[in-house]
Amino acid sequence: MNKHASGVAVSISDHDLIAGSTALFAPTGPVPFNAASPPIFQTSLFTFESYSAIEDVFAGRSQDFIYSRGNNPTVAEFEGLIAALEGAEAARGFSSGTGAITAAVLAFVEKGDRIVAVRNVYNDVYCLFGKLLRKFGVTVDYVDAADPAQVAAVLPGAKLLYLENPTSMVFEVQDIAALASLARRYGVVTMIDNSWATPLFQKPLLHGVDLVIHAASKYLGGHSDTVAGVVAGSKDHIARINRTTYPYLGAKLSPFEAWLLLRGMRTLPLRMAQHMKNGLVLAERLGNHPAIARVRHPAFSDHPGKASLRGFSGLFAFDVAEDIDVPRFVNALKHVRLGVSWGGPETLIVPAQAALQLPDESNSFRRFGVVDRTIRFAVGLEDPDLVWQDLAGALAAS
Ligand SMILES: *Cc1c(COP(=O)(O)O)cnc(C)c1O
Repeated sequence: MNKHASGVAVSISDHDLIAGSTALFAPTGPVPFNAASPPIFQTSLFTFESYSAIEDVFAGRSQDFIYSRGNNPTVAEFEGLIAALEGAEAARGFSSGTGAITAAVLAFVEKGDRIVAVRNVYNDVYCLFGKLLRKFGVTVDYVDAADPAQVAAVLPGAKLLYLENPTSMVFEVQDIAALASLARRYGVVTMIDNSWATPLFQKPLLHGVDLVIHAASKYLGGHSDTVAGVVAGSKDHIARINRTTYPYLGAKLSPFEAWLLLRGMRTLPLRMAQHMKNGLVLAERLGNHPAIARVRHPAFSDHPGKASLRGFSGLFAFDVAEDIDVPRFVNALKHVRLGVSWGGPETLIVPAQAALQLPDESNSFRRFGVVDRTIRFAVGLEDPDLVWQDLAGALAAS
């Protein structure tokens, strides 16, 4: 354990971050012409030299590339990198985090099955469950996964346990090792959305979770210029996705997006160290400001589940005090921008008050009691003093 500037104990140092991610700096296989940077194979198909070569791939005797909706070398390089970072046997890239989640979930549930999901799950996953899976008679029990007894009560007979540590918008922490072992006892497959922590700060497979999903659009890409997703897990679990959903949903990762991800990920350890530092500095200052009622940052949680987090990213939330006018506060910001995504270099906010206006059937925020004073805050890579001046100025003006 070492203490960060803010006094919060974290179990990872900048040195550990770099040392734990050597896969980022070396190609996973031979590179044509020994190029230092992985080349992009911007091609939709691959040709065959003979009849026997094409027959071999159809018969499964050869692993040659066929068509880029299935496999592509640039995409495979990205998949190999994610597998290495997560400690997984295999990974599969997708054209979005949501595509990855949909393919993974649909591969493991059948008509009439039941899912147990953490409350305050990412809103589009709430919509996937409530709108699309509902058509196939799949039901969902939402639980406060911070309380393993609540999960244990509904696990028997369920097919899938769906986690996100910490959760979206309010950043509730769960004990993923305890939940994974509980699920294993009942033969329930576990899946986790690990976008918040990245593989550098949380490796769920090492804690017994079966499948890890990332919205690579966020920290992995890291530059607000790509939408992508990935699922990692055992060979068997990924093979099931490859057999049942991946080829037919068509949500494949393009070579160009994979190349952008490979490029962005080379600085992942540096970026995550800085997001963590900046986030902790700002969380602490917000916590001491009289116009802030509450800071929702996993670093300040006392839940035992925090143990699987070796560090903290820059995404958290704060609740402004009753007398702060949210629209006025938002409009008074000069540097911090309004935008729904996160994980890039710029600092962004989303006011829950606006998200609470979504129609009921698409509104996990209202369902799970998110309050209109909550502001989601994605801390970027700027000088935190600059961001702080902007926040403090806008609070004073509201
Ligand atoms: C953005 C996000 C997703 C979805 O990723 P897309 O690439 O936008 O489809 C999933 N989970 C979390 C926690 C996210 O923030």
